[in-house]
Amino acid sequence: MVVALFLLGLCVGSFLNVLIERLPKGQEIIRGRSCCPQCGHMLVWYDLIPLLSFVLLRGRCRYCGKKISWQYPLVELATGFLFASSIYSSSLYLLISSSFFLIPIFVIDLKHGVIPDKLVFPGIAVVLGYRLFGVVWGVWGLYQNLKNDVGGLGPYLLQTNFFKTHAWLEFRPLLMTLLGSLVLYSFFFILHSLFKGRAMGGGDVKLAFLVGLIAGWPNMIVAVFASFLTGALVSVILMALGKTKFGETVPFGPFLVVGTYTALLSGRGVLEGCLGFP
Ligand SMILES: [Zn+2]
Repeated sequence: MVVALFLLGLCVGSFLNVLIERLPKGQEIIRGRSCCPQCGHMLVWYDLIPLLSFVLLRGRCRYCGKKISWQYPLVELATGFLFASSIYSSSLYLLISSSFFLIPIFVIDLKHGVIPDKLVFPGIAVVLGYRLFGVVWGVWGLYQNLKNDVGGLGPYLLQTNFFKTHAWLEFRPLLMTLLGSLVLYSFFFILHSLFKGRAMGGGDVKLAFLVGLIAGWPNMIVAVFASFLTGALVSVILMALGKTKFGETVPFGPFLVVGTYTALLSGRGVLEGCLGFP
């Protein structure tokens, strides 16, 4: 199962590379064959096997011999590992489906310093839809169980507050997640306004809302905490290495993505252990 998820991740990563290349240029994602970005030669299926083609061709184009960017195997490997590790997470589907948005956001923000709405908005729709479906599924299951409990207490319980209480218990986490995401959105909006967009771009504000939806309440605290921590750490290291000057900004989107994965993979352990959550 882990191996199958890893291989699936490699293939999805290969698709995400296409997304990362074409989305910022406004090209169509689905249609059009893949070409070498250097010489424009049409690539055939055996040039496009995730990871394997890169290794066999020693990182060079078969036709022009120019170097292929490390981004390709790295994105494939990262997606592979994330898919494989999702089996140890309590939110397997969420982790896999959000990778379609989070990984391209990570790379595109790193390369171009923008977070495309074309990734954030569909991400919000998919995750919100997933969470809403979970609630409806839970309430519907409870209703069916009680109704079919003929001869038992079920049909009677349906008439009482028991059903309403339990339906509310299904719905409440979604409501908390929505409210929390709105708080995150406002928090990042305030940061964005305070620093006049220098430290925090408008894209980060929208991404913060998506991060809240994916991580959920109260895990979103871990996500934001981890993103600020890694962001500060990497900024200090880059400054020490002389790669950036003080006051120069590093895109924050990639750190939000790292924070979200930290929250999804570690979850409540961090909340309870480090942040003293009950
Ligand atoms: Zn080429």
